[in-house]
Amino acid sequence: MNIRARAKINLTLDVLGVRPDGYHEILTVMHPLELHDRIKVELLSTGALEVSCSHPDVPSGPGNLVYRAAELLRSQCGCSMGASILIKKNIPVAAGLAGGSADAAAAMSALNELWGLDLEEGQLLELGEKIGSDVPFCLAGRTALAGGKGEILTPAPSFPGLGVVLVKPPFGVSTARVYGLYDSSPAGPRPNTQAMINALEKRDFEAVAALLGNALERVTAALHPEIYEIKKALRDAGAAGAVMSGSGPTVFGLCRSPGEGLSVAARLDLPGCRVTVNETV
Ligand code: ATP
Repeated sequence: MNIRARAKINLTLDVLGVRPDGYHEILTVMHPLELHDRIKVELLSTGALEVSCSHPDVPSGPGNLVYRAAELLRSQCGCSMGASILIKKNIPVAAGLAGGSADAAAAMSALNELWGLDLEEGQLLELGEKIGSDVPFCLAGRTALAGGKGEILTPAPSFPGLGVVLVKPPFGVSTARVYGLYDSSPAGPRPNTQAMINALEKRDFEAVAALLGNALERVTAALHPEIYEIKKALRDAGAAGAVMSGSGPTVFGLCRSPGEGLSVAARLDLPGCRVTVNETV
């Protein structure tokens, strides 16, 4: 079975506070992208679980989120079947694009079918949450307003076909470290989540671009000031708006179409950064 594991961007990301369990309460509008990893899942009659990944920075075997997701499914369902899972990464790693979560979600959906587990969407979402806060969003696979740690989903209007210029600087950031530093960082601007939902509802491109915002951006930018340079470069090159995705460090510029995105990308001169053009779906 061959499946796609789609990346996401955060159009807005707000941090509402710290929860008693130490996690941060967030409110974020997430949108899926066409960008995807490819996952190949095959049944193994031996009962073994084999997970391998094409990317040098991503562990194969038990360290991979896909392996953990598969083990969780087996233990929860009392299943003793095996599988061989190959991950071909296209989504940049540790980039704020939910690559690992997307792979785990895709593998869970495939194994549910391949192993005949008959789990319903709600059950899969609950299990996905145990693997990572972004996994339920990736399982649902559609634009959503996400609350809690990111796992409480409300469907939101999608805006397909927008050009997204992704700029990945030559370093990764740890999501845990960024959230850890958030509380000791000075207060900064916060996005207007409801206004973003309204703008999506109306398919008002200018408003969506103007409302892009991420409360974590200043934290990651304090560690890596390049974030602000990339945002400025994207705007100067013609993107209607630009913001960091998730905990970063990927910054994206929003354009009316992928074609416009290509023109913006061609004007960028950001040595060391990986620039690609993608689109919302
Ligand atoms: P998020 O946006 O959900 O915070 P991210 O895009 O910042 O995630 P990932 O690409 O998911 O980050 O990777 C985070 C870490 O998880 C990496 O250090 C990587 O080694 C590890 N990891 C484990 N399994 C995977 C996988 N299948 N794909 C990518 N990373 C994985």
